[in-house]
Amino acid sequence: MPGPRPAAPAPAGGAGPQRRHGKPPRHLADLTPAERRAAVAGLGEPPFRAAQLSRHFFGRFTQRADEMTDLPRGSRDALAAALLPRLLTPQRELTCDGGTTRKTLWRLADGALVESVLMRYPDRVTMCVSSQAGCGMGCPFCATGQAGLTRNLSAAEIVAQVVAGARLLASGRVPGAAPRGRGGSAPAGAARISNVVFMGMGEPLANYASVVAAIRRLTDPLPEGMGISRRSVTVSTVGLVPAITRLAAERLPVTLAVSLHAPDDALRDTLVPVNRRWPVAEVLGAAWRYAAVTGRRVSVEYALIRDVNDQAWRAGLLGSLLAGHLAHVNLIPLNPTPGSAWTASRPQVQQEFARRLAAAGVPVTVRDTRGREIDGACGQLAARARP
Ligand code: SAH
Ligand code: SF4
Repeated sequence: MPGPRPAAPAPAGGAGPQRRHGKPPRHLADLTPAERRAAVAGLGEPPFRAAQLSRHFFGRFTQRADEMTDLPRGSRDALAAALLPRLLTPQRELTCDGGTTRKTLWRLADGALVESVLMRYPDRVTMCVSSQAGCGMGCPFCATGQAGLTRNLSAAEIVAQVVAGARLLASGRVPGAAPRGRGGSAPAGAARISNVVFMGMGEPLANYASVVAAIRRLTDPLPEGMGISRRSVTVSTVGLVPAITRLAAERLPVTLAVSLHAPDDALRDTLVPVNRRWPVAEVLGAAWRYAAVTGRRVSVEYALIRDVNDQAWRAGLLGSLLAGHLAHVNLIPLNPTPGSAWTASRPQVQQEFARRLAAAGVPVTVRDTRGREIDGACGQLAARARP
């Protein structure tokens, strides 16, 4: 196989050899509305305070007691301390694309590191979130995969990344992106997070319960949640078939993205090692059942790697597997990871790959490469921050 194999996964605790990773503190966003009322009652407060706290966090993006002026002075601090502990501390922030792309490296309470990226477009604002610190799936082209899994994030740690993005947007510090062709950037203005994609660090379906709970918090209407449309949430998976089947039954019609990267098992076994457990045919079978149950078009992710998976015959094979199904292909130019010999496909090869898919009747787009200069691809910033 061309290209290097990844180094052996680092031991758990990627942020430092002595660091212990543990359970994050309990937070309001880990709890259902009924559990929040019970927790508030347990602190000797009337249950309706749960909705007040929820509105502060999900609607006003604050967890500072001094900003909760509708709560009695005597209760604010205790309620905030018990239910709104600080989960994320910014460690580094990088911006590019005229300030419309912002990537944050967060330190969690136990020292683990995760990233989120906010991307503001003329018509939407997308938040790319991490679901795990690290990842155990070992895909050799992915910076996160090379470091191994540190731990699962809690639902609240996932939601808090989106709330932080919403707070940043509301602060007016993110300039609006000018419509294509106009040049420059539009002034900052009020905007909301419209889309959430689970394409940061981690395999979301390997942290199933927290990810589904986070989706409910993100999509439940205010004050229970942030009120983001379910259709605007995308869960990207390496293809954990039983979890895809389970997700289809949740009655959460979120968009499913399947990271395929190869149409044949021989190559996919090497690019996506979990393929040895659930091969291409099984992954696509689960994707089509997901599409049938939810009515949602499945997004097939395909990172084009020069001379590895970009041959015309593979485009043809991929086209024949997908034609006639509720799917579209998102071609991603590979973002090379430090130390790897792999790189993105040549432009003509990428174009030909897309042309062959389109000729087979499969809708295809090429993902924009926002955030390239700030190591926008999954895990790259955290990989650099590691000692
Ligand atoms: N674990 C999930 C979601 C996080 S990765 C998954 O694999 O789907 C999000 C997307 O980024 C996946 O499609 C993944 O294959 C892709 N990706 C990872 N490393 C990349 C790189 N170096 N260049 C381009 N895409 C990459
Ligand atoms: Fe994990 Fe996704 Fe990276 Fe594979 S591509 S190692 S599943 S984060």
